[in-house]
Amino acid sequence: MFVHQRQGSLEVICGPMFSGKSEELIRRIKRAIIAKQKVQAFKPALDDRYDLSAIASHSEQKHGAIPVKDMVELARLLDPEAEVVALDEVQFMDEGLIAIIEDLANRGVRVIAGGLDQDSNGEPFGIMPLLLAKAEYVTKLQAICMVCGAQAGRTQRLVHTGGQVLVGAAEAYEARCRHCHEVPHAMGRRLLEGD
Ligand code: ADP
Ligand code: ZN
Repeated sequence: MFVHQRQGSLEVICGPMFSGKSEELIRRIKRAIIAKQKVQAFKPALDDRYDLSAIASHSEQKHGAIPVKDMVELARLLDPEAEVVALDEVQFMDEGLIAIIEDLANRGVRVIAGGLDQDSNGEPFGIMPLLLAKAEYVTKLQAICMVCGAQAGRTQRLVHTGGQVLVGAAEAYEARCRHCHEVPHAMGRRLLEGD
C-alpha cells in the first residue's frame, strides 16, 4: 500500500550506556550518506571520552561530528542545506535544542537524536523526556546486564561522586537490569550495614 509521507521528523534513539545507541546512530547516518543525503552531525563539547570530533561507539565505530558548547553555537553552525541532522548525547544538551529541532523538522529535515533516557539513578535525564514526547519515532534499546545477563535498561555508576553528570570512561559505568541496578543511597546504606 502506498502511504503518503511528508518529510521532516524527529527520531529518538535512547537506552542505557552500552545499549548500542551510537552504533545505531552511525548506522542511520551511513545509510543517509548512501542515499546521497547531506548529513550534519553534532555532539556536546563536554563529551570527550573517545574523540573530540566524532560520534564513537564502544565497539569502535566512528563518524565525524561537530562538538558544540551550547545551542547558540549549534544554531550558528547549522548548514541550511542539511537534509539529515544527527545529534549524539542529547541528554547533555540544553532546552534550546527543542526549538531548534522543531524548526528543523518543520522545514523538512530528518532529525535523529541519540542519548541516555535515564541517569545512573534511574531518573529521566535532562531534556530527554521532552524529546521522547515530541518524537515521531522512538527506538529504546537495551544492553546486557553485567550482573545477571538479562536485558538491561539502566546504567550503574561504579564510582562514588556527586552530581548527575560524570563524563566517564566505560570503567565508571556498567549496564544493569532493573533488579541488579542500585541507586547510590541504597549502596551507601548497604555498605553501612556491612551487607
Ligand atoms: P551506547 O552508545 O548506547 O553507549 P555503543 O553503540 O557505544 O552504545 O556500544 C555498543 C557496544 O558496546 C555493543 O555492540 C557491544 O560491542 C559493547 N558492549 C559492551 N558492554 C556491553 C553490554 N553490557 N551490553 C551490550 N553491549 C555491550
Ligand atoms: Zn541483572
